[in-house]
Amino acid sequence: MDTILLNGRPVSISLLEKLKGRINKLSTNNVVPKLAAILVGNDPASQVYVNSKKKVFENHGCRSETFHFSSNFNQQEIIDLIEKLNQDDQIHGILIQLPLPKTLDSKKILNSVLPEKDVDGFHPFNLGSLLEGNPTFIPCTPNGILEIFKFYEIQVSGRHVVIIGRSNIVGKPLFALLAQKFEIGNATVTLCHTGTKNLKKHILEADILIAAVGSPKMIDGKMIKEGVDIIDVGINRIDDGSSKGYHLVGDVDTDSVLGVANSVTPVPGGVGPMTITMLLHNTVVSAERCRELELSK
Ligand code: NAD
Repeated sequence: MDTILLNGRPVSISLLEKLKGRINKLSTNNVVPKLAAILVGNDPASQVYVNSKKKVFENHGCRSETFHFSSNFNQQEIIDLIEKLNQDDQIHGILIQLPLPKTLDSKKILNSVLPEKDVDGFHPFNLGSLLEGNPTFIPCTPNGILEIFKFYEIQVSGRHVVIIGRSNIVGKPLFALLAQKFEIGNATVTLCHTGTKNLKKHILEADILIAAVGSPKMIDGKMIKEGVDIIDVGINRIDDGSSKGYHLVGDVDTDSVLGVANSVTPVPGGVGPMTITMLLHNTVVSAERCRELELSK
């Protein structure tokens, strides 16, 4: 069996192309979709993520401003800033770069973002709307995975999807999306986690396997059913002697599933490129909603 590599880049390019017209239309009405990114602490990986988001936004006629709090901060200062950004008409999306330092109450900070500007889709109102079957903002990584299914025409309806990992940002929203009767959904979904007994049995039963664990190459070709479609969300840094000092691998041993799986997303280059694209998408949607609201007044 020839395994199809589900590269994220062509999916992302095609979506960005479609967004171009919408961004241009907004700009003729003097609206520039703008994200406010809040970065706390000095985690180098978080800084890289925030800078990449800024670059993508600016390359596509949108804006992204970073608000950086270093070590000497007070939680209330962050919440005060979020409340100010909530009221700012020029800001369409507010992103809190995770993880936040453990000394902070992440829930309190995330929940202070107005649901209408929660382009990451992490606010309980948005997560609840998703569960209710009426999504407002779909979290970016799950939304990117839906776009990969659409682009590569991978059938989801009626199949057995096994998700490993129950985080609020990937596993749980994916579970809620794929189990519902949506255009991409209507599947039978099993959600596995650290409490799951006999994980191998579940993996072997998957028609679609989604790994979002953070455990390097934990799944290999001997563990999967022939013809399975695999979405590898994991991003794991492996230290090596290269000039960069590390390379990235997924939760799946990609080489070993070639010839067994029907398809697999590579790491890097699979799900990764989709996450920022969907953030831009959600910010454009938010700007369009603001504009419609303005017109209806
Ligand atoms: P997390 O790190 O918050 O939690 C990991 C999950 O895996 C938990 O729900 C846990 O129950 C489950 N788990 C851990 N060990 C397990 C085991 N042995 N068996 C079964 N389940 C197990 O999850 P996350 O934030 O969704 O991140 C998961 C991975 O996805 C990480 O590598 C992260 O870097 C990556 N990620 C990638 C993107 C992207 O854009 N590609 C976005 C988000 C997360």
